[in-house]
Amino acid sequence: MFVLILLVCAVALLILRKTTAYWVKPVTKFLFPVGYWLYTTRLGYAFHLRSLNKEKSKVIPHSVAQPTPLSGVLVVPIPILSDNYSYFIIDLTSKDAVVVDPADPGAIKTYVVEKRINLKAILTTHKHWDHAGGNVLLKRQYPDLQVYGGANENVAAQTHPVKDNDTIKLGKFTIDVLSTPGHTTGHVVYVLQSEPPCVFTGDLIFVAGNGQMFEGTPQTMLASINRIQQLPSNSLLFPGHEYAFNDVKFASSLLPSYTPVQMKWQWVKQQRSIKLSTVPSILLEELKYNPFMLTDSDILKDALGLPHHTPPAEVLARLRQRKDNFRTN
Ligand SMILES: [Zn+2]
Repeated sequence: MFVLILLVCAVALLILRKTTAYWVKPVTKFLFPVGYWLYTTRLGYAFHLRSLNKEKSKVIPHSVAQPTPLSGVLVVPIPILSDNYSYFIIDLTSKDAVVVDPADPGAIKTYVVEKRINLKAILTTHKHWDHAGGNVLLKRQYPDLQVYGGANENVAAQTHPVKDNDTIKLGKFTIDVLSTPGHTTGHVVYVLQSEPPCVFTGDLIFVAGNGQMFEGTPQTMLASINRIQQLPSNSLLFPGHEYAFNDVKFASSLLPSYTPVQMKWQWVKQQRSIKLSTVPSILLEELKYNPFMLTDSDILKDALGLPHHTPPAEVLARLRQRKDNFRTN
């Protein structure tokens, strides 16, 4: 009976999302925590497996993505689901590999077999099924797999809990862990020590965007964004989703006269018109056009109609609100 009530709530949420009556907002606000909790349970996992099956019937993936070659290492984006990315990090000499957020175990296994690589570990940025949804089946398939995830994140099939400033040594790879709560409580970001460094940002940073604050305050999220801003400016950012079109369109509408945003918008439109991927991005550029990294900028405060002395966390809260209400079509 309890599950039935929860199911009714979830269905009601889905229907109400498309309704515009004045009473819808307070009702969805009330139902959201129930729906969100549901998503994190086994019922959410069942929905994830169902959506994997639905996506399998599609012949064309959401994006055409190119690998990034580094010294002796290859980073390969794998487009999965409707807009997610998993990433392989491959040592070209030993063929040892780790995979970030392998939510579609079938796609991961296919790549491992085709390329004859040795999958050693999973790096999970957070517990949501569109990131961690492949852990259980992959661990069953490859029993020696090490499964990393935030210590307080309840990541599926986790064998190696990690915390802030931990360093993971895996064969040739050295990977630093940054605790970045906000989207979820135990969200972490992985930084591959390479030249340039590669940052797997999960749902913290997207191209010109930032993840929703499901389990954190603007202050928490701001502190997490600041961690990324302090990394070397030549770092490559590999986000968990292909959200660039919507995120840069939003930035472009908010800052119509701001050159870095408008230049990125022209590029993203061109890329996405032929389904080319927009990842990775470079931190140095992200610092210029990503509005979520401009919370201390007067240009952004003017665009949001906020006084220049507004604290960055308040700017972030207002920016999030504007983004959540932004409709791309
Ligand atoms: Zn998420």
